[in-house]
Amino acid sequence: MPPRLKAILLLALYLLKTVGRRLFTRRKSGIAAFRANYDADGLPPVSPAERSAMPEFSRCIACGLCDRGESARIAASGGAYRGVMALVLAGSRSMPDYRAAAYSFSFVSDEVLADKEQICPTQVPFRAIARFVRDKAAAVGGALPLPPRIASLPPGGALPSPPLTSPK
Ligand code: SF4
Repeated sequence: MPPRLKAILLLALYLLKTVGRRLFTRRKSGIAAFRANYDADGLPPVSPAERSAMPEFSRCIACGLCDRGESARIAASGGAYRGVMALVLAGSRSMPDYRAAAYSFSFVSDEVLADKEQICPTQVPFRAIARFVRDKAAAVGGALPLPPRIASLPPGGALPSPPLTSPK
């Protein structure tokens, strides 16, 4: 068979195969295709309303005020919860981390977050951030069941204090 004819036949065969596959197989499209591709990476779709609210989540100036009074909850979490500022600055910034962040948020109630909204100098919407994190985590399997205690941390989750005087 002449090479040119063989090439034309091969092209025609693959064209028919492609058209047939499109006609006779059901393919996911839109949101379903997005979820099939990205749920496993912890990246659920975001609604237009959620997208427009997201810039409000980035107002933290790391003053630390919202972490005042959190030591008991940090200790009770065994290290899984490091305070509200860590959640606002780090845990809620990357969506693939939201399952772990949702677990951390479980140590602090919406009532406590509402009180902290009153003292935050940049009006960070803690409850809206927590809700967004929980919703997105729920869409891809829910809060991660982290271990009850992080082995690398000392009991209570606090870092050891440095010695006041140098050893003799
Ligand atoms: S009080 Fe507000 S600005 Fe200060 S660390 Fe907490 S979230 Fe950030």
